[in-house]
Amino acid sequence: MADYRKVKSSKIYMGRLSHDADLLEELTAVCIKEGITLGRVEAIGAIKKGKVGYYDQSKREYAFLDLNGPLEITALKGNISLKEGTPFVHAHVTLSDNAGQCFGGHLAPGTIIFACEFIIHSFEGEAFERHFDEVTRLPLWKI
Ligand code: ZN
Repeated sequence: MADYRKVKSSKIYMGRLSHDADLLEELTAVCIKEGITLGRVEAIGAIKKGKVGYYDQSKREYAFLDLNGPLEITALKGNISLKEGTPFVHAHVTLSDNAGQCFGGHLAPGTIIFACEFIIHSFEGEAFERHFDEVTRLPLWKI
């Protein structure tokens, strides 16, 4: 059975991230500053270079792919919860090159912004906390 809870829409933040900043770190910094512990995030823009993860399910570990930019952020979608007591952004991205070809994966630190517009939608309710999951060996929600 799925684990879930009803949440209530709260505030929506909309803005632009800094040129040359790390995409994941800057989104996380907004959540920490605003005290957002539950929500969703989306963004579009462009990056100078990217780093995305692919979770190898048999090895139970991430492999990381370095992507040379410039690339468009055609889509970034993610959620915000708590990990070790602090706001944690889990996001996936799709990035396109000058031929329109796309790459994608789990957004990792090391993705550097050229320009980026974001929307963060915060929710009210008890935060979802990430805990180590024995089966997948991932930090998953305990709801
Ligand atoms: Zn992921």
